[in-house]
Amino acid sequence: MASDSETAATSVAQRHRETAASVLPDHQQLYIDGAWHDSNSGATFETANPTTGETLATIPAGGADDVDDAVRAASRAFESWRAESPASRQRTLETIADRIQNDLDRFARLDVLDNGKPLTEARGDAYLAAEHFRYFAGLIRGHEGERVPTDGSRRVETLKEPYGVVGAIIPWNFPLLMAAWKLAPALAAGNTVVLKPAEQTPLSALLLMETIDDVLDNGVVNLVTGFGPDAGEPLTKHPDVAKLAFTGSTAIGKQVMKNAADTVTDVTLELGGKNPIIVHPDADLETAVRSTTIAIFYNTGECCSAGSRLFVHESIEEQFIDQLTAAAESLTIGDPLDDDTQLGAKVSDEQRERTLSYVDAARNSGATILTGGGVPDKPALSNGCFVEPTVISDIDHDHEAVQEEIFGPVLEVFSWSEYDEMIELANDVDYGLASGIMTSDIDRAYETAHDLEAGTVWVNQYNDFPAGMPFGGYKQSGIGRERGKETLDAYTQTKSIDISL
Ligand code: ADP
Repeated sequence: MASDSETAATSVAQRHRETAASVLPDHQQLYIDGAWHDSNSGATFETANPTTGETLATIPAGGADDVDDAVRAASRAFESWRAESPASRQRTLETIADRIQNDLDRFARLDVLDNGKPLTEARGDAYLAAEHFRYFAGLIRGHEGERVPTDGSRRVETLKEPYGVVGAIIPWNFPLLMAAWKLAPALAAGNTVVLKPAEQTPLSALLLMETIDDVLDNGVVNLVTGFGPDAGEPLTKHPDVAKLAFTGSTAIGKQVMKNAADTVTDVTLELGGKNPIIVHPDADLETAVRSTTIAIFYNTGECCSAGSRLFVHESIEEQFIDQLTAAAESLTIGDPLDDDTQLGAKVSDEQRERTLSYVDAARNSGATILTGGGVPDKPALSNGCFVEPTVISDIDHDHEAVQEEIFGPVLEVFSWSEYDEMIELANDVDYGLASGIMTSDIDRAYETAHDLEAGTVWVNQYNDFPAGMPFGGYKQSGIGRERGKETLDAYTQTKSIDISL
């Protein structure tokens, strides 16, 4: 007879299978030059559902020759796509936004199955993906060159021209949204694209190709699925790729940049983070606790922007920690297809083990695990890659669990009394992506925002991404900014025309 645990897990698996049957893309192949292909080698890989452990789909494992086919197709499509007027490209991007919006629930469910994130968050991602296309659709109409003042005997003007083929490589934490972050500005600016989704989560990118197949001419966007070294690396080395846009780990980002150096290719890199949250003594506790919860537990901690190091003033430490641990313990961990689930599965067993090994290393060094630290004791989740929301204190700031990006729902807490010492510690990591400040004093907010080495500073909130707010890293968190006006500059190059009159 099946145990309770087996029965509960079986019913979750059954529900996920039924959902998969209605949301999986019809095409599960490479998308090159507007057509669906197997990989040249015939190699494939399986993408798994991290909630159930079951295989979702078998996908081509692309290689260098597939990347080459895709780059050639994108090169051929470039001349006609760049020649489209900004108004025409605007309309195309708006159509893509509408298509995503119209199929929002399917995109969201697909990312839930492939990534393990809660449905409410996946719906938010799909909405933001559509919004991202709309934002760049509007922005491109105002992306102007300049007239440079001269002595009158000449006319100097600048043009903003697309690069050509953009190689875009994305991670698994926001599968659809990261595709949108790359595609929208690249296409708006008149580039064509070869996109390489993460091997853990290729499905929503496939659905996106299917959804926009009749919106774009053949070759304007191409998709090569596969593993990083086989499908990603050839893209970073291809001589006809004129711009690389990468989101992922700092280790791989460095390799991408090295490869780009050989062909002097421009790079935008959005890399890791180990982001501090500063709680001042005058913070509104409820707001600060809520914001910290969102900072570290949103998307199961699988955010490069996750606020994972908390610096709370000693005068409110006890109260704050009590409320924070209570908030962590009250989060609903469950089947990510449930509307009320707040913490889903990690993307893979490998990532779950990685998170738990950092927690173990902290525990072994004498740190205190204030809450969490293990896997949830829920029969229905027994086959999934779940980790409890975890808060750790009494840990050395030099410890690997503090210095390295865990990419899981794990927060480390430090108390502070001297402002300058606290700021020094807050900045004492290789990263500089994001940060949070909790205070009710606006002067204090600006002072701390000024002192933090981070590309984004959220005050009395966290993980908010309004359209147009530039996002990117200081230090080893990256190069360039995504999501803002300057992003279009990153996808264009300036041509100066100097005319003698
Ligand atoms: P993570 O460790 O979080 O999985 P990675 O940086 O390894 O992040 O992966 C992010 C993206 O980079 C994925 O699409 C992955 O396939 C790709 N990738 C991994 N290795 C390489 C590589 N050597 N060159 C180019 N892309 C790679």
